[in-house]
Amino acid sequence: MTDFSKTRAGFYIPEGMIYLDGNSLGPLPIAAKQAAARALEQEWGEMLITAWNRAGWIDLPRKLGDRIAPLIGAEPKTVQVGDTLSLKLYQALGAALAMTDRKVILSDQGNFPSDLYMAQGLIQTMDQGHVLRTVAPEAVEAALDDRVGVLMLTEVDYRTGRRHDMARLTERARDLGIITIWDLAHSAGAFPVHLAQTGADFAVGCSYKYLNGGPGAPAFIYVAPQHRDHAHTVLNGWLGHATPFAFPLEYTPATGVDRMRIGTPAVVQMQILDAALDIWNGVNLEDLRSASVALSERLIAGIEASCPDLRLASPRDATMRGSQVSFHFGEAYALCQALIARGIIGDFRAPDILRFGIAPLYIGEAEIDAAIAAIAQITQDRLWDRPEWKTRNAVT
Ligand SMILES: *Cc1c(COP(=O)(O)O)cnc(C)c1O
Repeated sequence: MTDFSKTRAGFYIPEGMIYLDGNSLGPLPIAAKQAAARALEQEWGEMLITAWNRAGWIDLPRKLGDRIAPLIGAEPKTVQVGDTLSLKLYQALGAALAMTDRKVILSDQGNFPSDLYMAQGLIQTMDQGHVLRTVAPEAVEAALDDRVGVLMLTEVDYRTGRRHDMARLTERARDLGIITIWDLAHSAGAFPVHLAQTGADFAVGCSYKYLNGGPGAPAFIYVAPQHRDHAHTVLNGWLGHATPFAFPLEYTPATGVDRMRIGTPAVVQMQILDAALDIWNGVNLEDLRSASVALSERLIAGIEASCPDLRLASPRDATMRGSQVSFHFGEAYALCQALIARGIIGDFRAPDILRFGIAPLYIGEAEIDAAIAAIAQITQDRLWDRPEWKTRNAVT
């Protein structure tokens, strides 16, 4: 069994804080502090430009990809790290569209808007008559047909935590000749993912949520083995070139998933991520999932028993949930602010969702029980009803 007290000890969490927002930004791994200091002082400071070779900076995108691969069930040498999730999604979608003559991109209305915006922008730039079709999440399977070229979905809904049946949808799509792109933003590090087994063509994800890489941490892209030597790179940056340091004027993509690199990697963030990933050594993802389900059920039962004004927004069936639990509440924003004032950090998503990320790496039953007790008191006594808690900050 995974010892979660060990993983908990690997994080810095401020005294008295209960952090239920690791689905948005994971907390600081203690080892990340030393990694950042080393990257700044020993590497940048002492080695300057020679650190690209001497400290292995140039290989970080590949090295980190190889470290993330087992966490998402990917084959070795299929994952590359860099840039932002929005950019990696753009690349994956452009690569997928280059592999089909069909014009329809199918997604769902629960997808994170940035994914849909990137698709809209790419369609406009390509100007080849592509269309983005979005349907209700429950209607995706029925909407698959031989006009759809690319199925682009986020496995877990950022608001409700509803989880698609990735294996089933990927199989249906493949049978119909549809290329699949899965966004694993709320999956990687949240529960076991089996990319290779499901036969997904492309996947993308970020490393600042359940992988705890820190604000602005780089994204990752997965390209299935059969595509990685052929995939269109879309954004032809010099570091995705076969011979970047020969500086030819014509672009020739590198072989393998290295071709998905664009430009200079964010080295300091990557060294931090490298340290953050050490926490996963010795973590069994099935254990993580069991713990996440148990904590989620505990939260749902506790809230339903003591807070009748909150209504579950997440699927009740654990197999259909990611690793978050959400509730509807009319004054969700004010309630969230009242909770934050007590050191209980969840978040709000418009219009009325209160969202709690469940990360067993650093959350246990005591934290869940304290959150339930606080929410019960705040709702019973209407403590959320203060004007200062109803003024929205720029980031909600
Ligand atoms: C968090 C998230 C993003 C954010 O994209 P960035 O480019 O990293 O800002 C995009 N898509 C989904 C599905 C997300 O959950």
